This record gives sequence, structure tokens and C-alpha cells, in this order.
Amino acid sequence: MAKIHRLTPEHPRMFRAEVVRSVRVSPSIQRVTVTGPELGEFPWLGYDHWFRLFLQLPHQRGGLRLPVFTGTRWWGPYLAIPEHERPHCANYTVAGFRGRAAEMDIDFVLHCGPTGELEGRAAIWACSARPGAALAVLDQGILFDRPEDATEVLIVADETGLPATAGILRSLPRDTVGRVIQEVPTAGDRRETEAPDGVAVTWVVRRDSRSVPGTAALAELLRHTAVDPAGYAFVVGESALATEGRRHLHRLGLPKNRITFSGFWKHEPTSHAA
Ligand SMILES: Cc1cc2nc3c(=O)[nH]c(=O)nc-3n(C[C@H](O)[C@H](O)[C@H](O)COP(=O)(O)OP(=O)(O)OC[C@H]3O[C@@H](n4cnc5c(N)ncnc54)[C@H](O)[C@@H]3O)c2cc1C
Repeated sequence: MAKIHRLTPEHPRMFRAEVVRSVRVSPSIQRVTVTGPELGEFPWLGYDHWFRLFLQLPHQRGGLRLPVFTGTRWWGPYLAIPEHERPHCANYTVAGFRGRAAEMDIDFVLHCGPTGELEGRAAIWACSARPGAALAVLDQGILFDRPEDATEVLIVADETGLPATAGILRSLPRDTVGRVIQEVPTAGDRRETEAPDGVAVTWVVRRDSRSVPGTAALAELLRHTAVDPAGYAFVVGESALATEGRRHLHRLGLPKNRITFSGFWKHEPTSHAA
């Protein structure tokens, strides 16, 4: 789970929304565009702004039931909802936001189980989402926390971090220097970025579809053998990429307080062929 951060809002706001459209934008990414009466007020900060997504599972009828809470304590009220009515909750990043149109894009990574079937409740929902389907987003702020004096930026991510990488590259000051190591499942998942001229983007395309996401990005990171101790790094994706990546960068001399790392999800060996 993402670490709590000072850029987390003190009073996170919940926004009800509905699906506008759902489109496959690359082989492994389904983009769902949503809107809502108040969604134009979402306090979008750019960068890797993320949120908790609440959605109805296929067996749930009678409207989307949401936790009622004040302050940041949504988890208790969420668990208090009877299980058969409790919405599914998963973490996602704002892939695009158009305030005037009150529209938000969400990029869902499609992942398959050992026999090739689509798995993941949110990913399955995204693929079959019809216009008008109800959902809600709970604002959680941004994790990216580059110190103002950082001399360089290093971003490392698997595909679940691609919306974060793209958002950060779009938001960074144009004179930023640094490097991105971005893993994607297929060559077709690479995309144009708005990286500052001084930031080099290395796309790492997985060679073996059975390998655990994040492994290839970590291997590339391990070939990165020099860091400026006054730099900053952001490492997100599968849990091992986040923790091993941070360990490597710290060993190279980057202080821990200059590394943001977050396990966006955890590989469970039974859900994939080895
Ligand atoms: C701050 C933050 C931002 C995030 N932003 C995004 C985002 O923008 N887009 C995005 O797609 N994900 C994002 N994630 C990751 C996402 O929350 C998880 O992948 C989540 O498990 C997906 O939910 P699900 O309901 O599809 O899968 P679940 O039903 O929770 O999981 C089912 C099974 O799928 C496995 N699994 C989950 N995700 C993957 C994956 N990507 N590849 C392979 N196996 C997987 C699980 O280990 C589990 O075995 C983010 C996570 C965090 C913490």
C-alpha cells in the first residue's frame, strides 16, 4: 500500500461519477473516461495524483454504496458496509483531467491469470464498463515529493506506474534533468511523453510475457551504477521492484529521504506461471 505522505489531503473528498466511455488505448491499457456533477472541482495537482476508486462488482445491485466518514478515516466505515454491498476499492492515478468538461481519464492495466484469462476486479470492470455505470473517486493527493534542491530525478516504474510517470513528466519544470526507466508488457504500450528535454526515457519492453512485471525494470535499474546524492528518485510498481529498487539506490549513496518508493501491487505466485 502506498505510504502516507504530507501531500495527502487532510480532508479527502469523495466524488461520485459515471462512465462516459471505455477504450483500449494500447495492448495492455484500457482507458475509462468518467464524469460527474462535481468532478470539475477535483483538486487536481498534476504529477502522480492518485485516488481510491470505488466501484460495484457484477453481483451487486441497488446502487453504489459508499462509506460515510469525516477526516481521513474512511476505512472503518468502508468495512462496516455489509460484504455483499461493499464496493470494490482499488488505487488508481489520474491519467488525464479536464476540469471544464468535468472529465477524468483512468488507465487500467490489463493483466491475465495463469490460463490467460483477464483477472483483477477493477481491470475486468474497466473492460466491460458501459456509459452511465456508477463509480466514485476519493482524492488522495500526490506521492512524488522531489526536494526543491534536487539536482536530478530518477523515475522507475512497471506498467501500473505508467500513468504516474506520464503525469510526472508532464508536470516537471522544463529544466529538470534525469532519467526514466519505464517497463511495459509490449512494444505497443510505449507512448509519447512530455518529458523535459533533459530527462532521458528508457522503455524496457518485457521479453517474456510470463515474467513478473517489474523484474525487467529492476534489472535495468541495477545497471544504473551512479547517482548524485543530492538527487531524488521515485520507484513504484510491483512490490519487489519498489523495495529492491530503493535498496539499490540507497547502496549507491542516495539518502532514504530522497527516495519515494511504493509497492503499487504485490505479485502472488499462484496468479501467474513462474
Ligand atoms: C498510488 C497507486 C496508484 C496506482 N495507479 C494505478 C493505475 O493508474 N493503473 C493501474 O492499472 N494500476 C494502478 N495501481 C495498481 C493497482 O491499484 C493494483 O494493480 C490493483 O491490484 C488493481 O486492482 P484489481 O482490482 O484489478 O486487481 P485485484 O482484484 O486487486 O487483484 C487480483 C490479482 O491480480 C494481481 N494483480 C494486480 N495488479 C496486477 C498487475 N498490474 N499485473 C499483474 N497482476 C496484477 C494481484 O496480485 C492479484 O493476484 C496503483 C496503485 C497505487 C498504490
